[in-house]
Amino acid sequence: MIKSIDENLEIINNKLADSNAKLVAVTKTKPIKVLEHAYKIGLRRFGENKVQEMVEKYEALPKDIEWHMIGHLQTNKVKYITHFVHLIHSVDSLKLLAEINKQSAKSNRIVNCLLQVFIATEETKFGMDEVELLEILESDELKAMENINIVGLMGMASNTLDTNKIVAEFKNLKALFDILRIKYKTNNIAFTELSMGMSGDFELAIAQGSTMVRVGSALFGDRN
Ligand SMILES: *Cc1c(COP(=O)(O)O)cnc(C)c1O
Repeated sequence: MIKSIDENLEIINNKLADSNAKLVAVTKTKPIKVLEHAYKIGLRRFGENKVQEMVEKYEALPKDIEWHMIGHLQTNKVKYITHFVHLIHSVDSLKLLAEINKQSAKSNRIVNCLLQVFIATEETKFGMDEVELLEILESDELKAMENINIVGLMGMASNTLDTNKIVAEFKNLKALFDILRIKYKTNNIAFTELSMGMSGDFELAIAQGSTMVRVGSALFGDRN
């Protein structure tokens, strides 16, 4: 089990080698022992999708780990993670952003955020459409937020074997990212990160310009 993680990591790193994409090891549902091993073999970016689980793991593990919140985040739980979270991938409303800003200020931090965009044509997933995205980026409220940085976009492709469809979805997200990158550069907005690609599609994602892949099962095995 542990040995296969080493082998899986080597395979994934080889696939990422020609890109600049960073690996976020998705550790959700995995026990602390597995995360300790991941740390031992050099991984420093861990992705979790539940607040309580992420807090418990943060408290148990070395403090030079970057914690990435990749799951849907409820406003009332923001306060439990803002003192340590490195990047929140799943921001999907101005209300959530305002709460992240408010709670980050209490611990004197500036928390990095990605806006999650709905790109899948096949099924309902969390995320905003372009209209909602632009509403946030144009809002006066955002301009006044001093304790957040918007650093890019996150998206999840359809869960399908249709490679053409996945590639088209990633292409759309990259095109949107490139437009926003040029158009929005302010005190708290700079589009540098494009979080796209998971175990089943990260190679397609890096070919389309992903800067950050979120890989769980291909690294740690299936989740129960
Ligand atoms: C679970 C999860 C992943 C990782 O999924 P795998 O298919 O196991 O790599 C990536 N992104 C998000 C948002 C997730 O919830």
